Parts: sequence; structure tokens; C-alpha cells
Amino acid sequence: MARSYIPVAIDRRVRTAAQNRCGYCLSPQRLVMARLEIEHIIPISKGGNNDESNLWLACPLCNGYKSDKTIGIDLETRETVKLFNPRNQVWSEHFCWTEDGLRIVRKTPTGRATVAVLHLSDDPDALEVRSYWVLAGWHPPED
Ligand SMILES: [Zn+2]
Repeated sequence: MARSYIPVAIDRRVRTAAQNRCGYCLSPQRLVMARLEIEHIIPISKGGNNDESNLWLACPLCNGYKSDKTIGIDLETRETVKLFNPRNQVWSEHFCWTEDGLRIVRKTPTGRATVAVLHLSDDPDALEVRSYWVLAGWHPPED
């Protein structure tokens, strides 16, 4: 996906609004080596724009899996649903952590579709990194 120019002031506001963490897997910037990316909730290729209301923060892993997708299949109902919108929806209403803190549990059709599309609970690299965060007491986040 082509990168688009986001003014520095907007970049800063989005990072602050997102609490400097990925809107999908909640990985905080302080624990991710790569810079978290400003992502388009509705991709430019699907009619999205650079308005702040269409921007949020995502880790490179989630942003890569999301790519230009906006919908997914709820594997329980087989219905097509919109992916989680981290700007307008509340994470804890759609997801929660497993007791061991490694995987994200889906609570809603939106949550189930988003976990599947973004591989929130089955990316082996993410699971390994999270396991070390759990050992260090850094994960899962409390909110
Ligand atoms: Zn992420």
C-alpha cells in the first residue's frame, strides 16, 4: 500500500489518542522495536482519506495483516462483518485476553472477524514475544 503524507501535528495527535499502542493487539510503542504505524481505518484504496478521524495506530504486524481489508468473516455465524474500528469502538467490548495473556479472545462477531483477519491469536512470532512480556510482568495490559 502506498504511504501517504500525514502532517506531523496529526501524527502526534493520533499517537496520543491511541495511547501510543497498537489499536488491535494493544502492543505499546515502548515494547515494540519498530515504530508503530499510522494506519488508515478505511484504506485510501477503498475510499478512505487522511482525515484524522480515519487514522489510528497499528503495529507493523497488525497493519501488515490488515493491509487494505475492512471486512472479515465471523467464523461462528459465517456472516461478513466490518473489522474492529479502534477509533470508534471499545477494545474490551470486542476482545479480552486469555488467562495466560498470550491470546486474544473474541467476544463479538466483530472481534471474531478481526482476530481471524489480523491473526491476533495465532501469529507465532507475536505469541513468542508476548510470552516474554508476560514473564516480565509487562503483559497483558490492564485496560
Ligand atoms: Zn498490533
